[in-house]
Amino acid sequence: MPYYQMRCNLCIPERNKHTVIVDEDKSIIPESNAPTVPGDMTERGCAFAGARGVVGGPIVDVIHMIHAPVGCGYYTWGTRRHLGDGYNWAMPGVLENEANHRRHCYTTAMTEQDIVFGGMEKLKNALLEAFKINPGASAAIIYMTCSTALIGDDIENVAKEVSKIVGKPVFACASPGFCGVSQSKGHHEFNFQFYKWLLKYREEHPEVCLKEEEKTPYDVNLIGDYNIDWDLVTIVPLFEKIGVRVLNVFTGNSRFMNLLKLPDAKLNIVHCQRSATYIAELIRQGFDIPFIRVSLFGIEQTAKALRDTAEWFGDEKMKKRAEEVIEEETEAIRPAIEWYRERLAGKRIAIYVGAPRVWHWPKVMEELGMEVVACMTTFGHKEDYEKIVQRVKPGTLIIDNPNEFEIEEMIETCKPDLFLTGLKEKYLVRKFGVPTLNSHSYEAGPYAGFRGLVNFARDIYQALYAPVWRLAKEEF
Ligand code: SF4
Repeated sequence: MPYYQMRCNLCIPERNKHTVIVDEDKSIIPESNAPTVPGDMTERGCAFAGARGVVGGPIVDVIHMIHAPVGCGYYTWGTRRHLGDGYNWAMPGVLENEANHRRHCYTTAMTEQDIVFGGMEKLKNALLEAFKINPGASAAIIYMTCSTALIGDDIENVAKEVSKIVGKPVFACASPGFCGVSQSKGHHEFNFQFYKWLLKYREEHPEVCLKEEEKTPYDVNLIGDYNIDWDLVTIVPLFEKIGVRVLNVFTGNSRFMNLLKLPDAKLNIVHCQRSATYIAELIRQGFDIPFIRVSLFGIEQTAKALRDTAEWFGDEKMKKRAEEVIEEETEAIRPAIEWYRERLAGKRIAIYVGAPRVWHWPKVMEELGMEVVACMTTFGHKEDYEKIVQRVKPGTLIIDNPNEFEIEEMIETCKPDLFLTGLKEKYLVRKFGVPTLNSHSYEAGPYAGFRGLVNFARDIYQALYAPVWRLAKEEF
């Protein structure tokens, strides 16, 4: 039988096809991106969370207006550390370059009465009030949620009306929680709807496009990097050093008006290939701008990303520069990585993240001398699992969208020394005496690029060797 039967799933056999042990020919992957089986306490987020929390959320200078009861509206604070360099601390309207994305929670706070009589007027007033309080905001994004989608509020019309009044762009994203099986659908919807809206906006406002004289032959967009704990600080300079100009990042630390220039680059470099390949593909179809897929974690993968970029441009000087940068960067981190590798060698690792980092990281663990024993994703698709199984050893346990019982059984059977996991599961895992590392927003990043690898190795080392685990194990 291709699938792996977990004890905890005897009473919910529909879960069996979501669990596999990687075999020698690596031909079997778990079923994925399927509706949650009733009775399975999934840990997935909703599609709105994917649109607001992942793809739209990192845009620094806009009003993120959540058209919802306050429950969904509260989904703003304390979520991902997709950091930005806007000011977070001054009163609104005092400084230019204000950050709005993590600081304020904007919501229409719909009540029962609004649900009965409609919330469009409330949305319009909330947007006007938000723009008045924050005159520095460049634009607004309206996020539709389950309740406002069910009553059929026309958020696009409100966006047009408010945009006309304030003279700034307002983009309406209809990605209610129920529109897909997980947050992954929200990534898709944001990409698709933003691209469609951007085309129209550029047509009506050609002045927002990059002027010919401002373009260079080496303009690229970094697509699908959300600047988790300042990953961009270790990534962008690498590309700049080899001679390309990073015009835009979709959407880490980005500014709304700059994103309108996405189709003005020569090449899109796609990092998160689950949440953002959609827009790269749409730009390829619409503007004939190609994209390449890269992984920017660890030495080998980051080096390959630089080589692939230089190769795409076909510029001999750039290829040479890429080799020099790889050499310099590898040399700079070598002593630290060797020190950590000696102490981490042989440790067993379980990885549970959204999706792509689960296949970005096995190579990184290998570079640090560790062994991946289990891989899990919250919203991975077929392509994610195909990549995962290719990058891990036969015998590795793979679980699609695991629930708490499956995680417990995984700990018992795979016996990981460390669990790279998100915020929700870490307390459960620690109760088993297994150290965790926050792979969702990191402990003290950045973790990407060459220099980020040292931080990643340090945090793994600190998690593994913290004396508390010795005491915890004795206790339990
Ligand atoms: S599932 Fe619907 S109601 Fe729940 S948080 Fe998501 S958008 Fe809001």
